Amino acid sequence: MEVVNEGPAVSVLRLGHRLVRDERTSTHLGLVARAFGAKEITISGKDDETAESIKKISSRWGGTFKVSFTDNWRTFARNWRKLTNGLIIHLTMYGENLDLSLVKLKQENREILVVVGAEKVPGDIYNLADLNISIGNQPHSEIAALAVFLDRIYRGKELYSTHLGAKVRIHPDPRRKVVLNLA
Ligand code: SAM
Repeated sequence: MEVVNEGPAVSVLRLGHRLVRDERTSTHLGLVARAFGAKEITISGKDDETAESIKKISSRWGGTFKVSFTDNWRTFARNWRKLTNGLIIHLTMYGENLDLSLVKLKQENREILVVVGAEKVPGDIYNLADLNISIGNQPHSEIAALAVFLDRIYRGKELYSTHLGAKVRIHPDPRRKVVLNLA
């Protein structure tokens, strides 16, 4: 995404994707990741339908957002850390307070891999992560948790950023749908 902004580059790792059952949620997770300023999503497992749906949106609405898969998320996360020297952040309702964590993240100013689950996550993610952060201590959803986290990291600046190579762009209008054709 030719974004944004001040703030660290963020990648997303989605654990526990189940074929068919999670297709819609993982697609929405990818779309939220893209629209809220992350640069890529990696999904544990393999699902061509999900990848295709996210890629279709990116091709029409622009940007450089990437979708990939891993069959070993632990190795993926450890390699990501070695490669980037970044921080692995696990979003969980059991984690530390978001506001306090954001202060730490701002001081560190390092690339971030955000990990979100589907149902119950494997217990070792709590230790593998550098920080376990809650978006409130109530159970809700990985999509909501990711959206709030990214919005707080980028302080809302990601919402109206430009996506290079877009074929269409919305011209905001209080009453009508106005879509500019750029292709
Ligand atoms: N009991 C699970 C947990 O550990 O958060 C809830 C599973 S929830 C259906 C799926 C994912 O949503 C979780 O793995 C977590 O990444 C995210 N999530 C749900 N509620 C959250 C919260 N309050 N704060 C941060 N992440 C949350």
